[in-house]
Amino acid sequence: MVQIAPITESLPAFLASHSFSQVAVLVDEQTLQHCYPRIQALLPPHTLIQIRSGESEKHLETATQIWEGLTKAAFDRHGLLINLGGGVIGDMGGFCAATYKRGIAFIQIPSTLLSQVDASVGGKLGIDFQGLKNHIGVFQIPDAVLIDADFLATLPPRELRSGFAEVIKHCLIADAAKWEELRQQSWETQNWTDLIAHSVAIKERVTQADPTEKGLRKILNFGHTLGHAIETYFLEEPEKRLLHGEAIAAGMLTEAFLSRQRGWLTEEQFATIQSYLLQTYGKAQIPTDAFEAIVELTAQDKKNRGKEVRFSLLEGIGSCRFDIPVSNSEMQEALTYYAG
Ligand code: NAD
Ligand code: MG
Repeated sequence: MVQIAPITESLPAFLASHSFSQVAVLVDEQTLQHCYPRIQALLPPHTLIQIRSGESEKHLETATQIWEGLTKAAFDRHGLLINLGGGVIGDMGGFCAATYKRGIAFIQIPSTLLSQVDASVGGKLGIDFQGLKNHIGVFQIPDAVLIDADFLATLPPRELRSGFAEVIKHCLIADAAKWEELRQQSWETQNWTDLIAHSVAIKERVTQADPTEKGLRKILNFGHTLGHAIETYFLEEPEKRLLHGEAIAAGMLTEAFLSRQRGWLTEEQFATIQSYLLQTYGKAQIPTDAFEAIVELTAQDKKNRGKEVRFSLLEGIGSCRFDIPVSNSEMQEALTYYAG
């Protein structure tokens, strides 16, 4: 299902083994410029649907534009939509394909590190709604995910480093040996093809065991409870805005602190996490007077049940527990540590 290979091999092979009435490709302005030229000649005659890039476009109006594109091209139920881009394109294009005429075939060709190691795997699709992230969506596994690390060559370095946070997360929650290997090198010199294969294997294993996040899948949310809250907090301030992975790096460090407080990480284990995260991402400037708002934001987390805020926390390196209640004062303490 997920293939990691040069796109010049994987895409023709996929098309040759299927028969589609029509093909459409969804791009944004960046992937039109940097990625589409690499697949254009591999495709039969097709429709190009272009949307504007960015999380701020991941909403119902853009979805409407995609459904319109398919309708205008008179797509029947035997067509294929190819989502060529980062997580925004994949989530939204997948959602539109899964709902157009009750579902047509779609494949993901993820072109950011974040989408290659995370968003394209596991079948979560959707759009933001009234300011709430991924509020409307479905679970549906794509017909294929074709990953080629060469697409990363044109990605801005800051986006690459942001996606790397999910790679770090996969090591910390599921593979201590890989973490040891990874932390010997700076993010710039990592072997992406190797790390992508490693992350995809972990994400596939976890999501196949628990496709709809009833239990185990929650471990993928390590770093994301405080991380999302921090990301959301800074959305209001354009010059301080953090990329997702940058916020998750802060989330992983504060949540590793919570594990250490519980005695689930040794001082030494915690120190390795702290030093690698700070060396890679530096520290987000979180003012003390933001703590309360950030703690309040964790109450919005999709993992919660009722009023209790539940975390996924490391229990040693390479292992993670979920559904751990954490009090507001513990969160305050973790933020105080981080900001100190
Ligand atoms: P993104 O899709 O916005 O891409 C980041 C930027 O990089 C965009 O400007 C894009 O146009 C540009 N870009 C993409 N590929 C490029 C390339 N090869 N060269 C140059 N520029 C390129 O963001 P993202 O970080 O890929 O994904 C974030 C989204 O993924 C969020 O909406 C998030 O909710 C979603 N997500 C979903 C899941 C899931 O399980 N479905 C998991 C994690 C994240
Ligand atoms: Mg994430």
